[in-house]
Amino acid sequence: MTELDPDDHTVDELTAALETIDDADDLQSILEAERAGQDRATAREAVHRRLEEIGTASDAESTDGDGGDTDDAESEPDEADGEDPEEDDALSHPTRDKKHVRALEDGDYADMWIFCETQGGELLDVSREMLGKGRELMDQFEADYGDQEAVVAFLMGDDCEDLAEECIAYGADVAVYHEDERLERFLHDPYTEIAAHMARGEGTVESTDWREYDEPRYILFPATNNGRDLSAKVQAELDSGLASDCSDLFIEESEVSNPVKTGEPGVKKTVEKVLHMKRPDFSGFEYSTILCLDNPNRDFHPQGCSVIPGSFDPMEPDADRDGLIVEHDMELADDWFRVDITEHDRLEAGIDLTGHDVIVCLGRGIADDPTAGMELGLDLVDAFEDAALGITRGIVTSSYQFEGHVEAYSAEERQIGETGQVVAPDVYIAAGVSGAVQHKVGMDESDTIVAINTDPDARIRDFSDYFVEGDLFEVLPRLTEAIEAGETDLEPEAVADGGEDDD
Ligand SMILES: Cc1cc2nc3c(=O)[nH]c(=O)nc-3n(C[C@H](O)[C@H](O)[C@H](O)COP(=O)(O)OP(=O)(O)OC[C@H]3O[C@@H](n4cnc5c(N)ncnc54)[C@H](O)[C@@H]3O)c2cc1C
Repeated sequence: MTELDPDDHTVDELTAALETIDDADDLQSILEAERAGQDRATAREAVHRRLEEIGTASDAESTDGDGGDTDDAESEPDEADGEDPEEDDALSHPTRDKKHVRALEDGDYADMWIFCETQGGELLDVSREMLGKGRELMDQFEADYGDQEAVVAFLMGDDCEDLAEECIAYGADVAVYHEDERLERFLHDPYTEIAAHMARGEGTVESTDWREYDEPRYILFPATNNGRDLSAKVQAELDSGLASDCSDLFIEESEVSNPVKTGEPGVKKTVEKVLHMKRPDFSGFEYSTILCLDNPNRDFHPQGCSVIPGSFDPMEPDADRDGLIVEHDMELADDWFRVDITEHDRLEAGIDLTGHDVIVCLGRGIADDPTAGMELGLDLVDAFEDAALGITRGIVTSSYQFEGHVEAYSAEERQIGETGQVVAPDVYIAAGVSGAVQHKVGMDESDTIVAINTDPDARIRDFSDYFVEGDLFEVLPRLTEAIEAGETDLEPEAVADGGEDDD
């Protein structure tokens, strides 16, 4: 029987001492003693790991809920008290039993990797925007820390060597690309496998001289449909965390006191070179800063996020910039190409919502019957001479099932706001729109704003000229009828001078 009392040791000391213990009963006793004493999550993890090493992991995991901690993104302020989440098995983390954690401990990390998404043989704008931001961040990184680390673009497609060169012109130091005709369009499996393979520096590359590290320090993806998909899968594959839909990034040190991160309760630790990933929360009424920090015995790198298109400016391209182009090579399993894209269509042009007299904008207030809500919005549009239908991002990112005849109206190209279009019509009718700040910046220059909302305290009321408290499913048809009958003052010429305050 071991005499080891975990309370007498720091987590590091305990971890070292556990290496000498091969008896599962002894380890269980230490686990019990830790629970009865300081009950440090990291100490319990160390015992679990040791139990796993000696081959009795399942016993240990069935008694404790923190064996497979993979969800590590944490918000500021970093004052968590280190207590366990619910010990109830049914409520514990769904991936806690994940058997294939390949996260590193004390790994070497460097560089900022940027996934440069392409479409139709061209870089997406957001790819250029992220390269510009990456350049700015890593130039500042060098100024702050004196270490020169690279901006590494990585991309894949059927013909993308030229695009790799374009990435250099837009700010990358290195561009790693993988060409294969089967990669013409985004496919989950091969894109994920290739990206993780590239990030680990595995496989055949023409030259590995430029990287002497295990994994990237930071990694950025676009918050597009494909980028969101890829970001989650690659970060899971690399056993790290992800902050999604970020709109600002900066790198600086961070002082943390969470014992899960420091290893000791009551101790503060300064972590350098932390990527601070800012994202709007609660419908944009508040910003959170997400940090992805290593645990004492478990690294969470690359620190990664997806970036909302339009958040940053690209730099002026410089075709003479020096950079390294690296072709990536890897066996691609046929199994990854089980999905066959037999047909595709490309929209001819985006929708331009600017320049109309009237915009009818629909928000998530249509949730009860999205198709009927959309139809009512379109009826109102038709009642005006020159009107168009816009939507909030809430609609774009919703999973509403629209019927075919109105589905096209839920596409991102109709989004109004910070990351959509900015409009300033004579009349802006917002139905079921809460008025988040990101929406407001796209429409508050309108001459007359009319809001229809069931919630009398909705934020949009603060910047509306007319506020109709009511259900849009009842109000919109009546408004359409009134416009058609010429019974309202909402004709653009009638409101050209702007309206009065609340009704
Ligand atoms: C980086 C970033 C960028 C963003 N960019 C944009 C952007 O460009 N544009 C944008 O719009 N958003 C943007 N957003 C999202 C934004 O923060 C909000 O989440 C979004 O605008 C909310 O959409 P909503 O008003 O439709 O939904 P909600 O906020 O859910 O509001 C729905 C409203 O409908 C009302 N309602 C419910 N039922 C009814 C009914 N039957 N009749 C009448 N009213 C009803 C509710 O009271 C509520 O006020 C962005 C977010 C991020 C993080």
